[in-house]
Amino acid sequence: RAKHNGKNNYQFYDANMNVHTIELLAYEAQLRRALDNREFVVHYQPKVSVATGKIVGAEALVRWHHPDNGMIYPSDFIGLAEQAGLIGKIGMQVLDIVCRDIAHFQAVGKQFGRIAINLSGAQFNDEGLLEVLQKVIAFWKVPSSAIEFEITESMVMNNHEQAIGHMDALKAAGFTLSIDDFGTGYSSLAYLKRFPVDSLKIDRSFIMDIPGDSNDTAIVLAVVAMAKTLGLKVVAEGVENVTQLQTLLACACDEYQGFYFSKGVPVDDFSRLLG
Ligand code: C2E
Ligand code: MG
Ligand code: MG
Ligand code: MG
Repeated sequence: RAKHNGKNNYQFYDANMNVHTIELLAYEAQLRRALDNREFVVHYQPKVSVATGKIVGAEALVRWHHPDNGMIYPSDFIGLAEQAGLIGKIGMQVLDIVCRDIAHFQAVGKQFGRIAINLSGAQFNDEGLLEVLQKVIAFWKVPSSAIEFEITESMVMNNHEQAIGHMDALKAAGFTLSIDDFGTGYSSLAYLKRFPVDSLKIDRSFIMDIPGDSNDTAIVLAVVAMAKTLGLKVVAEGVENVTQLQTLLACACDEYQGFYFSKGVPVDDFSRLLG
């Protein structure tokens, strides 16, 4: 009897696995359809000067506007898109949308600062990235100086010589570079010095509990001091209240992003925020 149950359990489990696999495949097929139908949209989260409170740019954040399920956030599709080898194509659509929006800001004379785009590891490591970037920005007549790329520590630590080469090429083409989610990877300070990046974005997990958590506050203070020594700008992620903002001001952090100022919003809303 126990054996019988065991067998049933096994079959039940197995059937679930199949359902799971079928769901994944269906989801992947939907991602492909989403690319064909251009269902991806970009929201912009303002980057704000800590000292002046003025908007200095924005980060472009991709969303999947699913025809049946509504707005889907990156945590629910970026991983699968990476596994399915579709992240590069999604990234290209994001770049295209951002350049179109920048071209619009330029046409109407909006001062938008600089727009940051998140790069996936696959995009960053792609030897053909720069050539494609050049084509897209030339098509939209957008200067490379209007675009920043956010890369993560893990993307540059595996093969840092190659990574430095790719960063140098992007910098030489006039793009700005920043290290995203700083503090969550394992970059050593020695390498950081050699990376041709312009800014560090301190991960939200370090900002969340300041100033109450004295360890986190000390870390933020130390990161800002270190970044300044290396000539880098520092951006705090995930600022949700005025107490955090005051702490960042006391730490001389340069810029911040977070729900306290605004979440990521559609381009028209961002345009209104610009005034
Ligand atoms: P990220 O680059 O670190 O982006 C910051 C994330 O934190 C965003 O989530 C943003 O909405 C959220 N956030 C901002 N301020 C706050 C706050 O005050 N509180 C809280 N709780 N959250 C805040 P989102 O848009 O869901 O994006 C998640 C991640 O997906 C991004 O993390 C980035 O790694 C990735 N991602 C977004 N867009 C793209 C893209 O176009 N391409 C690629 N490859 N990855 C993307
Ligand atoms: Mg980012
Ligand atoms: Mg980030
Ligand atoms: Mg983060």
